[in-house]
Amino acid sequence: MSNVIPIRVSNNRVLKQIETQKPAMATTVPLLRNAYLNYHAHKGHPAALVPLTLTEAERNALYDIYQGETQKYEVKWIGKFRNAPNQTYCPLCGSPNPSQLEHYLPRAHYPEFTLLSWNLVPTCAICNPKRGHHAHAPMEEMTLVHPYYEEMLFTQNLFSVLIVPPFSAVSFVPVTCPGPFSQKIIRRLERQIEICFDKEKLNRWLANKLWKEMHAELSGIATQKDAMAKIVNKLKIYQKTTGSNSWDSIFFRGLIADDNAVQWLCNTPSDILY
Ligand SMILES: [Zn+2]
Repeated sequence: MSNVIPIRVSNNRVLKQIETQKPAMATTVPLLRNAYLNYHAHKGHPAALVPLTLTEAERNALYDIYQGETQKYEVKWIGKFRNAPNQTYCPLCGSPNPSQLEHYLPRAHYPEFTLLSWNLVPTCAICNPKRGHHAHAPMEEMTLVHPYYEEMLFTQNLFSVLIVPPFSAVSFVPVTCPGPFSQKIIRRLERQIEICFDKEKLNRWLANKLWKEMHAELSGIATQKDAMAKIVNKLKIYQKTTGSNSWDSIFFRGLIADDNAVQWLCNTPSDILY
């Protein structure tokens, strides 16, 4: 299970550093401490968190630490993590190789969580600009899945793909899994697809890489049963190494659900020109 673990850091210690090293922030720190406790109690849920009204100077002070003063305030993990999030896939959209560290609740709306480790999640360069400030959703059914608080991101199959023929010029549409989810969760997952998934890139990745690789592997296999066994095995491997909802995992999940696609891959010579 490729789970995202929040960075182990004492947020309280960071606040103490700020309190002693930035006298102008002395009255702000207790507000931040309280906001942190609220964040944790409500699992980063924007519907339950009223943003603090910080002055520009207070916002800038926090941002300066985030950007450049990480060493001084014992938050050097931010700089390190920002450049190497140490994840195999983006927890928000499933794309491979996340390369950034981002604020789950955007800094523009919640400057008080600029340095809070629970609010800093690894993400990819694809969905980060797409998400923009959309993560600031006041209604519960519109919140994105939080990688640190919502286990379902790793323990449940949330997403799959529909395989759209013609198979010689195949395309893919990301969808939510039928799973035992409430309507509310389904709406949230649909919104996650809408906001986080770069559908064109996902399509290219699946069509040019996984589809062709599977075609080469399955072409000529005599029985659907043998082909399916191979696909199920692939899904197991990817679920284990990249997580249940990586682009690889959702591809194989979609393939398992589509007999026609599997049949086509088995029966069509793999040297056809796509
Ligand atoms: Zn992403």
